[in-house]
Amino acid sequence: MNKKILITGGAGFIGSHVVREFVTKYPHYQVINLDALTYAGNLENLKDIEDRPNYSFVKADITDQAAITSVFEQYQPDGIIHLAAESHVDRSIADPSAFVLTNVIGTVNLLNAARAIWKDNLEGKRFHHVSTDEVFGALGESGFFTEDTKYDPHSPYSASKASSDHFVRAYHDTYGLPIVLTNCSNNYGPNHFPEKLIPLCIHNILNNKPLPVYGDGKYTRDWLFVIDHAKAIDLVFHEGKNGDSYNIGGFNEWQNIDLIKELCRQMDAKLGREDGTAASLITFVKDRPGHDLRYAIDASKINTELGWRPLVTFEEGLSLTIDWFLSNQEWLDHVTSGDYQHYYDNQYNGA
Ligand code: NAD
Repeated sequence: MNKKILITGGAGFIGSHVVREFVTKYPHYQVINLDALTYAGNLENLKDIEDRPNYSFVKADITDQAAITSVFEQYQPDGIIHLAAESHVDRSIADPSAFVLTNVIGTVNLLNAARAIWKDNLEGKRFHHVSTDEVFGALGESGFFTEDTKYDPHSPYSASKASSDHFVRAYHDTYGLPIVLTNCSNNYGPNHFPEKLIPLCIHNILNNKPLPVYGDGKYTRDWLFVIDHAKAIDLVFHEGKNGDSYNIGGFNEWQNIDLIKELCRQMDAKLGREDGTAASLITFVKDRPGHDLRYAIDASKINTELGWRPLVTFEEGLSLTIDWFLSNQEWLDHVTSGDYQHYYDNQYNGA
């Protein structure tokens, strides 16, 4: 069946992979990428598919209700996949307000616009909200987040995402809006903006700069290759149960310090440097306030109900990611010039 799918945040890291998945897998769908192109949005991420007849781009800011309503009236989408967000925890600590505006108000603006155009016919309609495992707070050394875990966000970022999740559920319960939610663990892969751990370390190793590791490096995250996430979103968007949420994770926990050492090992090998060259750049820095010790996802619901599981192992995914950054150094240079340098100096060099 022909469908019009509007994807928000499609110029960002995960959004660009979701857009590519939909444009290439469903040539009979019309895919509209709505993005404000903030510092994190980059249309270079979609160069390979931008000329496809079933793809179009609209520059719009989700914090602007009038602009969003007008885009929805013009395109009349059947499905929304909502990824646009302020996504970086450290930036949320420096400036929480931007996170409330985009992640909370922006989400409510989209829900209002969907409700307005779908009011007469909800058949075949779906609002898919893409969220994070960080809404569940922190785990101790054991246990996993399930779909029933109580929300307990700690950072302004996770508080804003938790709030947006609640609004999405409230529009389902109050107005009958057809929704699904996904809460995913940490992603990595091509197009990842180099303020996040893995691409930041790749960039710094290439430039012989220190690799900043928070606290004692024992923080534990569950890592998933971004294309596996995009495939999970495709599955939940099409087959998830109305009103339900699904946890997505890689069953792949790493302490930050071990992950960085593995990354260093692979980088030294790929760059033909002596083993240990990259690891000598590791530098422990002052901890992030409110830092959650451990996140780990129980992804058995999406596995048993929908048959999803990650296809890419961490070793393969990390190798693919490093190869992508090594062959796209122009992309890296481009996104790390200007504002990025200013952010980086503030964050790590006390400027
Ligand atoms: P990103 O920061 O790389 O991309 C965000 C995109 O949203 C950018 O293209 C940006 O231009 C756009 N955007 C930001 N503010 C906007 C606004 N006001 N109006 C319109 N567009 C705007 O983020 P990401 O890492 O790709 O994350 C995408 C989504 O997935 C987010 O909702 C995030 O919370 C969620 N998520 C991310 C991860 C992860 O590991 N990165 C894990 C789980 C969930």
